[in-house]
Amino acid sequence: MAPKRRWLRLAAVLPLAGALAIAAVVALVTYRVAFELSLSTTRASAGHRLDLYAASFEREVGQYANYPYVMALDGTVLALLGSPTDSARRRAADSYLEALNDRIGTLDAYLLDKTGRVIASSNWNKWDSFVGRDLSYRPYYQNAGVGRVSRFYGIGTTNLQPGYFLATAIARGNDTLGIGVVKVSLDQLERSWASAESPAILSDEHGVVVQSSVPAWKYGTLRPLDAAARRQIAEAQQYNDRALAPIGLSTLRELDDRTHIVRLPGTAGSDGSFSTEGLFLAESRAMPDTPWTLTVFTDLSEMDDLARLWAALAGLGSLLCLGLLAVWRQRRRHLGEILAARAALQQAHDHLESEVADRTAALSATNERLRREVEERERTERTLRDAQSGLVQAGKLASLGQLSAGIAHELNQPLAALVTLSGNAVRFLDRGDLDTVRGNLERVRPLVERMGHLTGELKTFARKSSGEPQRVGLRKVIDDVLFLLNHRLTRGRVAMTIDIDGGDIDLWCDANRFEQVLLNLIGNAVDAMEGGDDQRIILSARREGRFVRIDIRDNGPGLPPERLDHMFEPFFTTKAPGVGLGLGLTISAGIIRDFGGELVASNAEGGGAVFSMTIPTGGGEAT
Ligand code: ADP
Repeated sequence: MAPKRRWLRLAAVLPLAGALAIAAVVALVTYRVAFELSLSTTRASAGHRLDLYAASFEREVGQYANYPYVMALDGTVLALLGSPTDSARRRAADSYLEALNDRIGTLDAYLLDKTGRVIASSNWNKWDSFVGRDLSYRPYYQNAGVGRVSRFYGIGTTNLQPGYFLATAIARGNDTLGIGVVKVSLDQLERSWASAESPAILSDEHGVVVQSSVPAWKYGTLRPLDAAARRQIAEAQQYNDRALAPIGLSTLRELDDRTHIVRLPGTAGSDGSFSTEGLFLAESRAMPDTPWTLTVFTDLSEMDDLARLWAALAGLGSLLCLGLLAVWRQRRRHLGEILAARAALQQAHDHLESEVADRTAALSATNERLRREVEERERTERTLRDAQSGLVQAGKLASLGQLSAGIAHELNQPLAALVTLSGNAVRFLDRGDLDTVRGNLERVRPLVERMGHLTGELKTFARKSSGEPQRVGLRKVIDDVLFLLNHRLTRGRVAMTIDIDGGDIDLWCDANRFEQVLLNLIGNAVDAMEGGDDQRIILSARREGRFVRIDIRDNGPGLPPERLDHMFEPFFTTKAPGVGLGLGLTISAGIIRDFGGELVASNAEGGGAVFSMTIPTGGGEAT
């Protein structure tokens, strides 16, 4: 796995592990606190119960404590001790002890001589009579002193009956004569304990349980016995041959030298009132005047369960709090991110707005400048158009100027004829030759009509046209131009050939301006061929798609090759000053361009110049 991915996984797992660790610590601390708090209460009540148990034990045993002394006061007892072998005295003492035993309710009452041998006993006449037995190995014999009662718990070696032995030395002066012993049953005490709600035990100095509310524990040990203790117990024949095995109590914690938390093995109370399984508080107390210890156990499992419950709740609560904290932090971070994003957005928006405002202002300024430029351009264009149309008009007038000599000649002929005819008419009228007069007058009419036609054509040609295109028949325009140039063509004996595809073609142009172009080009051709023997002009027109191509070819000297590329530039002329302006071709090219066509100049292969133009057809709108 890539280290980065491992880190990412760790980063995701760490907070969870941390939260679980915190929850575990909280649960642990809560458990301890809850446990300790309940423990102090439990300890108080356990101490109280211990008092009660101790008091009941003292009461039970204490009622018999004085009977050994009572024995020492009796005359028959003292008499027997004075003479232990006297059988009469022994019978008297036996009777006394039997009566005493019956009266006080002890198990047995008996008398030892100073060597530890039983010399009289309450059960002198029973099968288990102690009389004659040597009990010097019993600690109560060994520990017995004058004026005090030694206590001992053990199992009877004769009748195997357990009991509590109370013994005191009987003395005369400093002389110990014997030992008075009563054996007490603790069954009553045991029965009262059995009904208790939690276990209680009485253990001897070795930790052997001598009294217990749990029958199974009796003659068990709280801790394993060492060899010395076992030897001591065997010597005193205290518990006969009992195994004295540990009951299985384990100490978990010492609260003080008398109070422990222990775990008990699972054994029910004698009447099943409680179970000893689990945690218990063991509160102990040394019983006065005995090497014994009284221990009462208090069940801690409920308290433990409660503390565990608190711990679980606290753990879950802390997990919940941590979860809420994490959610809150995440929401805060999320909110922070949203706010930051919103601020960034706002900033971007503001920036954009100011940029848009700047751009808008710049655009407005540009727009204003463009508008002014457009206005300026339109103005310029208008001026240019005006200038162009002025130029066209000037060119036309110049052409008219060139025509003027021919026109004058054209008009002079009919005028001279008119003068002759009118003069002749008067003379023939005087002679009365009316037929001749009529004939002359009839010849006047076509002359005048021809003159009218000429001036009409001149007027039409000279008028200023708008330049708007319309459908125009090519043939008619050619005829009008040739009519105006008639004198010049005739004078030069120019052979004019017209070759139009299909006889005639419609063009889409301004007729007046197209006439100006043809007049200019044919006029130039005539000029160029002037003086030549064989002067010919061929005008051919062909359809080429949406256009009509018109070629005007002459057999003059042709165009100077070095000028071919500059033929349409203004002010180039080879004509004499006053004859040519050098604007004719420039204006013609401009007019054709305005029609949407083109005018080019070249030299024909067989010599002579060729001017070719394309003009949109008038078969419909020029598209
Ligand atoms: P202009 O006729 O006033 O001289 P144009 O612009 O009409 O002005 O013609 C410019 C010149 O082009 C003419 O002077 C002539 O030298 C030359 N040119 C025009 N047409 C022809 C032609 N068909 N053959 C030879 N040269 C020509």
